Amino acid sequence: MSSIARKLRRENKTVGFVPTMGALHEGHLSLIAEARQMSDVVIVSIFVNPTQFNEKEDFTKYPRDLTADAALLTDYQVDYVFAPEAQEIYGENFSTYVYVENLTETLEGAARPGHFRGVSTVVTILFNTIRPDFAFFGQKDAQQVAVIKRLTRDLGFETEIVVLPTIREESGLAMSSRNTLLSPDERQGASIIYQGLRDAKIAFREGERNALKLADIVRQKIETEPFARIDYVAVVDSETLAPVDKIGDAQVLIAVAARFGLVRLIDNIIINRKQ
Ligand code: AMP
Repeated sequence: MSSIARKLRRENKTVGFVPTMGALHEGHLSLIAEARQMSDVVIVSIFVNPTQFNEKEDFTKYPRDLTADAALLTDYQVDYVFAPEAQEIYGENFSTYVYVENLTETLEGAARPGHFRGVSTVVTILFNTIRPDFAFFGQKDAQQVAVIKRLTRDLGFETEIVVLPTIREESGLAMSSRNTLLSPDERQGASIIYQGLRDAKIAFREGERNALKLADIVRQKIETEPFARIDYVAVVDSETLAPVDKIGDAQVLIAVAARFGLVRLIDNIIINRKQ
């Protein structure tokens, strides 16, 4: 991958990079389609990164299907699929990790110790290997977006981070590789997350500016679903992830994590004055 990337730089090709953990769905494909629009060469990585899993079982159960993924990608004119083995990324005696302060201590960072250290480290290794002009990420993982933007600025990567909207199933459930692990009932029930977020957005449009009240609207809706176990509902600044009391001019994120059976799902919406 390094030598291909070097060759592409020599040829002055712009490189668009889409990092994924595979089990590809339309959310991933929307990133790939945009990468295709914006870049001469599209590189997709498929790597279930062991260091970002804080639960061993989550890692072993994570869906993997490289054959189906490769077949899906044939329609998308992807130039390279980079699917390394863990030993290629983390060589013997690997000891260097990237840790983004502050932003990684709340929400997913608090619930999943070590998760963002794994994400930041692998993204740094992939960015160093590929040196993309553009890298594409989904808004579904809003905290990941904030962390990657921070690390890109702090470490001086010359990669532009492009963030694209969350793609949803018809029910409103955010697409996720983990959705395949839900039972049919759980999957149906999981659409309650987006219903809660949508209720909050409607209340915001109608003038509600109190963050606690908006969070309560989301929480109360999700609690009507017997399968759901809420982990958190948070109203935070979308860039700093600091909790917000009253919605003002800054862009705000309402973020949710909830379990359905053994599967933990996250979702969020952005609200701002213009809506
Ligand atoms: P993953 O394979 O889950 O690590 O995701 C790879 C990339 O796809 C990340 O940037 C995710 O934010 C993005 N992604 C995952 N699900 C969605 C979705 N439903 N809509 C848009 N982007 C997504």
